[in-house]
Amino acid sequence: MTATVIPAETGQDGAEDLRAFEAASRAWLDSRLPRRDAAEQAPKYSIFHNLGHEDERALIDGGRAWQAERVDAGFGAMTWAPQWGGRGLTASHERIYAGVEREYLTPERHENILVTVELVAPTLLELGSDWQQERFIRPFLRTDELCCQLFSEPGAGSDLAGLSTRAVRDGESWRVNGQKVWSSGAQFSEWGLLIARSDPAAPKHKGMTAFMVPMDLEGVEVRPIRQMSGGSTFNEVFLTDVVLPDEFRVGEVGDGWRVALTTLGFERQSSAGIVDAGGNTADLIRLATSLGLTGAAEVRGRIAESHLYERAQALLVARYAELEQAGAVPGVEGSIGKLVWTQNLKRVGDAAASFLGHRILADTGEADTFAWTQHLLGAPGYRIAGGSDEIQRNIIGERGLGLPREPR
Ligand SMILES: Cc1cc2nc3c(=O)[nH]c(=O)nc-3n(C[C@H](O)[C@H](O)[C@H](O)COP(=O)(O)OP(=O)(O)OC[C@H]3O[C@@H](n4cnc5c(N)ncnc54)[C@H](O)[C@@H]3O)c2cc1C
Repeated sequence: MTATVIPAETGQDGAEDLRAFEAASRAWLDSRLPRRDAAEQAPKYSIFHNLGHEDERALIDGGRAWQAERVDAGFGAMTWAPQWGGRGLTASHERIYAGVEREYLTPERHENILVTVELVAPTLLELGSDWQQERFIRPFLRTDELCCQLFSEPGAGSDLAGLSTRAVRDGESWRVNGQKVWSSGAQFSEWGLLIARSDPAAPKHKGMTAFMVPMDLEGVEVRPIRQMSGGSTFNEVFLTDVVLPDEFRVGEVGDGWRVALTTLGFERQSSAGIVDAGGNTADLIRLATSLGLTGAAEVRGRIAESHLYERAQALLVARYAELEQAGAVPGVEGSIGKLVWTQNLKRVGDAAASFLGHRILADTGEADTFAWTQHLLGAPGYRIAGGSDEIQRNIIGERGLGLPREPR
């Protein structure tokens, strides 16, 4: 990400700067939001939303309004250059603000907002044309408009380069036909970032091109998919004779693989940063305490293990941010962070299920029991999204450890 970095962490001045920044963040949040510890909050174990369409839209709208307010006050896109509405601050400032913000009751941040702000906006900053950067970056950072990711297809997920949606050039425009699937938030998005095959004769990684697609264009049809957790966050998207002007092409013709890898790199980094989605060690401790199980060695062992991995996760995220701040391009850290996070989601869910035994199975109205099924039904999703656990292990083995490539 190109950000004007001001020295902040080294030396006396840097430390003072960070302390002053923390105080300013707290003062601003104090004037806006109630503190989390002062509010009565029901525990939340779900990982995905389980809402009707209008309720989910309302939740997204609340998140958008908060994102715009943060950006306008200088706490939203703070590592971005002033040209985009940012402050050119460092990853350390961002981390400090995130820590302070967790003390307050903020509107929930929907995945659709994360995709727009943390995946698509930085991809366009790296690979978009001047026109696209002017047109999209600021509205995306403020979430005035949302963008979904139109990558996966029924026959191409892990092997994304195997996709078959076709984009055929016709003078100054392109005609697109095909089908996408698992497109999170497509029903709420104004735009989609699409990867399509533009040259079927070229080797598969070289024959793809990326485009920005207005989701209300003729020929774009969005059909929500019902998930096993009950919600319908993701969708099938059908593209039938969709005509796109060439100025919506992102990157060079045939360079769609680079666009996809750039977005997926930001996705791993972003997923690795989610540490407390729907059930964590603190919830396990509360559960074990309420069930009177804290004396059992096995229960204590499970809680200690999940705490350890949560800490490891937080340290990995911090290390990632520091590497970036030092100007290095992080390598496999994003994959390691995502893997540790998804493994811990499973660890926490399994521990809760073992503490609860048969009480997790039926909704008797008893608090903190059946509610944990929302965690168990949602956790597998993040072990697939953004590159499955198996794929992350391949990346770590091949790129991180230098193991021979798997036979393909
Ligand atoms: C919650 C969620 C949200 C999503 N949101 C979006 C979105 O917004 N936009 C979008 O485009 N897509 C989205 N996806 C799709 C996601 O990116 C794909 O599901 C994912 O890439 C896996 O692809 P697949 O489902 O085709 O599985 P497959 O590729 O068919 O894999 C099936 C199994 O085989 C394993 N496998 C495959 N290849 C290998 C290999 N080489 N080595 C070892 N194991 C392998 C996989 O790990 C997996 O366990 C989302 C998915 C989920 C679950």
